[in-house]
Amino acid sequence: MQYSHLFGPVHSRRLGRSLGIDLVPVKTCSFDCVYCECGHTTLETIKRQEFFPLKEVLSEIQNYLCRSPELDFITFSGSGEPTLSTSIGEVIRFLKHSFPHYRVAVLTNGSLLWHPDVRCDLLLADVVLPTLSSVFESTFRKIQRPAPGISVAQVLEGLERFREEYIGEIWLEVFIIPGINTSQLEMDGLRAAIERIRPDRVQLNTLDRPGTEEWVRPASPEELERIRGVLGLSGVNAVEPVRYELSAGATMTGEWSDAVARVHDLIKRRPCTLDDISASTGLSRREILKILREIQITSVIEEKREERGIFFFCPE
Ligand code: SF4
Repeated sequence: MQYSHLFGPVHSRRLGRSLGIDLVPVKTCSFDCVYCECGHTTLETIKRQEFFPLKEVLSEIQNYLCRSPELDFITFSGSGEPTLSTSIGEVIRFLKHSFPHYRVAVLTNGSLLWHPDVRCDLLLADVVLPTLSSVFESTFRKIQRPAPGISVAQVLEGLERFREEYIGEIWLEVFIIPGINTSQLEMDGLRAAIERIRPDRVQLNTLDRPGTEEWVRPASPEELERIRGVLGLSGVNAVEPVRYELSAGATMTGEWSDAVARVHDLIKRRPCTLDDISASTGLSRREILKILREIQITSVIEEKREERGIFFFCPE
């Protein structure tokens, strides 16, 4: 079966082996972040809707999970902001009812948590991972480039309300961009907000793949450590860089056409190195290179060299 709404499992730096569920079309989001690894937002909106028939999504999930794959998490993420989908609550309920042994995570930009329906939809998730990179409107706009109608005050209010109502874990992501949100003033503001939101963890994140804007640079491990010290709160940690343990000749299982489709799907969603693809698919580098050549017959693949290696991706 070809899956339109599932991807991976991918090796996630924050969630381990994670099966992705994508409920929104590429690239539908309430933000257009300068660091986004999925490219520019083409539909920037805060209007919630059912983008795909719920039955279609549930049938894919049922088909995939009935084989009991080993997963650390099932994660709502992908091509944009998952809480824009009005199906998310129903899909989480289905997962917790039909496959209760899997942990469910939601990667969200937090922009819609002021909406009572959105908070209600996420209540059964095990972990919610919202983002907060600044409490100042001007910095928030510079980094997140929100859709009209969203202010940082609303985001903060939504996060605080969600904390009051939600008994699962909140892992707050703070995305660090050197020179943009790294001043003492920014840190003081973030510290006060974190104390009010009371997340279970704070994860300092930085650019790991090519972002949307060329000028965005990653923070060094030393800079992240400095910020951790300046924030001076317990439970704050930098997201570990990826470390793959690859066997030199991982063997391919399944049909070749399935493998080609999986690799194509991965690089359509976000730029990936050979190691990223190998960790997600179990394919050896040699096999992946062969597949990339095959994909190139019908699609454009671009390459970009970054600190972590050469990233392959399909441009929009
Ligand atoms: S990083 Fe997340 S919130 Fe920001 S534009 Fe990309 S998908 Fe949207």
